Amino acid sequence: MNKTKRDSMYISRNITYHGAIIRYLQKINNDNSWNNILIVTKKSLVKKLGVLERIKKCFSTRKIYVFDKVMPNPKIEMIEQGIKFAKENNIKLVVGLGGGSVIDTAKTIALFVNNPGNLLGYFLGRLIIKNKAIVKIAIPTTAGSGSEATRYVVINYFRDGKIFKKPLEHKFLMPDFVILDAALLLSLNRYRTATIGLDVLSHAIESYWSIHSNKKSDEYAQESIKIVINYLEKSCNHLNNLKYREKMLLASNLAGRAINITKTTIVHAVSYPITNYFNIPHGLACGLILPSFLKFNAEITRGTCNDKRGVKFVKSKITNIYKFLGVNDINHACQKLNSLMENIGLKLRLRENGIDNLKLIIDQGFMPERAKNNPRNVNRKDLKNILKDIY
Ligand SMILES: [Zn+2]
Repeated sequence: MNKTKRDSMYISRNITYHGAIIRYLQKINNDNSWNNILIVTKKSLVKKLGVLERIKKCFSTRKIYVFDKVMPNPKIEMIEQGIKFAKENNIKLVVGLGGGSVIDTAKTIALFVNNPGNLLGYFLGRLIIKNKAIVKIAIPTTAGSGSEATRYVVINYFRDGKIFKKPLEHKFLMPDFVILDAALLLSLNRYRTATIGLDVLSHAIESYWSIHSNKKSDEYAQESIKIVINYLEKSCNHLNNLKYREKMLLASNLAGRAINITKTTIVHAVSYPITNYFNIPHGLACGLILPSFLKFNAEITRGTCNDKRGVKFVKSKITNIYKFLGVNDINHACQKLNSLMENIGLKLRLRENGIDNLKLIIDQGFMPERAKNNPRNVNRKDLKNILKDIY
């Protein structure tokens, strides 16, 4: 197996690189404790990648079931269907083959096959998770969500005519095995490569400034930011370059490891209504507001500081972010982020992206558990000013 130096950082996870996917699955197949296997994926992916047939071949001695109903921003009803399907077929191992929505769905199915009761009840904290998940393998086919490296999932549900996103955090949601194969990313188009790349950058920067950041998360986040700055534009301009894809896949995984420690912050909280109400891809929603929140956090004062380590500490971290971006001050940092977005073909202003109702974002943009991780306190007026500025 093609191990790299970096693997030593990956405690208790099994990570492989380009081209190793089939060999790796064959190795897993030699373990006789896993029988009925469920592959969770998206219909369009199955055709595009042709990888499903190969995975099926690897598990030839097992019974393989496929659940390919996953859509972006997974709805709770769809996940419930998957859980029901897994229970009916006595599934013992779940493979999530796809982007963040697919891997989140696979993780959720694997856990709630073993935890009965109303699924939303667990997300709303009314039910307690008691049992471990069945074995889950994550095979990301995008470099964005980092979901393969986290103990979080996000689901969507309707209530009173509104769409809500709800995260769930639990150690049993962490995948048991991760397979990183950059070859699976080659089918991504430029727009998708660009938007998911911004999700990686947002995870890494938000983790770095999070009030929960520590030495380990900083290490992951810092390296991830540097890789994105060096390789996202290249990756968008050379879609078939495997080396650039590998770099972005690694950046995504590192950022996933970073937010697994710190969680995301205000940028993600505000991005959710932008995605839900204006149909903006998640990474783009984050990218649109990231520079403004970098500036907002850079202007932190003692009175607005939300990090116990103090305002000086936060300011020094923000200065470090400039360095990782290859600049020296906030204006150049914002310029750098904006020109990166333009160079990968994205528009910077909210209205250019069809976002025309700022009140809706302000009303829905405070996912409290994410906003409170931000180093600077944010109120409605701050958010209004930020959104007006980039409208
Ligand atoms: Zn994200």
